Amino acid sequence: MGCTGSCGGNSTKDVSKHPCFSPHGHGKSGRIHLPVAPGCNIACGYCVRKFDCANESRPGVTSRVITPEQALWRVEQALASDIGPYLQVVGIAGPGEPLANPATYTTLELIQEHHPHLIRCISSNGLLLAERLTDLLRCGVSHVTVTLNTLDPAVGAQIYRYVRWQGRKLADEMGAQILLEQQLLGIELAAQAGLTVKVNTVVIPGLNDKHLEELAWEVRARGASILNLMPLINQGIFADVQPPSPEEMRTYRRQAEAILPQLSHCRQCRADAIGII
Ligand code: SF4
Ligand code: SF4
Repeated sequence: MGCTGSCGGNSTKDVSKHPCFSPHGHGKSGRIHLPVAPGCNIACGYCVRKFDCANESRPGVTSRVITPEQALWRVEQALASDIGPYLQVVGIAGPGEPLANPATYTTLELIQEHHPHLIRCISSNGLLLAERLTDLLRCGVSHVTVTLNTLDPAVGAQIYRYVRWQGRKLADEMGAQILLEQQLLGIELAAQAGLTVKVNTVVIPGLNDKHLEELAWEVRARGASILNLMPLINQGIFADVQPPSPEEMRTYRRQAEAILPQLSHCRQCRADAIGII
């Protein structure tokens, strides 16, 4: 897809109506996540693929993956329902990596064509963000979440089993290094293009929990405007790791909020979540 340059609606960083990006949106705005994106281009150690993507979801199987046309129908059903008057946001958050699935762009185009007033939002691992940014702009996406867990490729090598990049499957530090470079570049370019960028970080005790402030400084410098520290969901290769306690999470967020606003109300929704939050 090529950019036509007609990226209306994404130059203003209006976070107030988006429940994922502003505490003020919570309890007032509705969002619908459309599960159109099953495939993924990386392998996070905490991901169990029959579950929803940990980027923005809790471990519960999405009812099913739907087509772009079914997604449009689902949005129209929601608009006609009780939450219709509150519905502000259409998001694509899995169950895999939205930017690696052509259905994501088709769905965003359909929403833009039929319901242009709805905020369009995606949640991504960031590997393809720089590469597909023009497509997101063309589809009128205004909010992006990037899950970035570490600035250290050596730590990344322990989090990501592999990264698929330009036709190659890269493991170890090489894969983690490419992922990190693309994440930071994507955040920077997206912020420069006027998108509101939120960073999600899965806090994994013993791996990245000692470097969260450094991470917050770096993503702030790249243009991120909010940080969402999320406790590890202990599954996959981290099944035996004790997740951080609520008290530990409060401490991490307190330390990081001097650097970037924190999102402490995240409920780690499913990829097919719908409703007011
Ligand atoms: Fe799973 Fe999401 Fe990580 Fe892909 S980016 S491996 S879907 S958690
Ligand atoms: Fe997004 Fe979390 Fe809000 Fe759900 S609770 S909409 S995943 S920020």
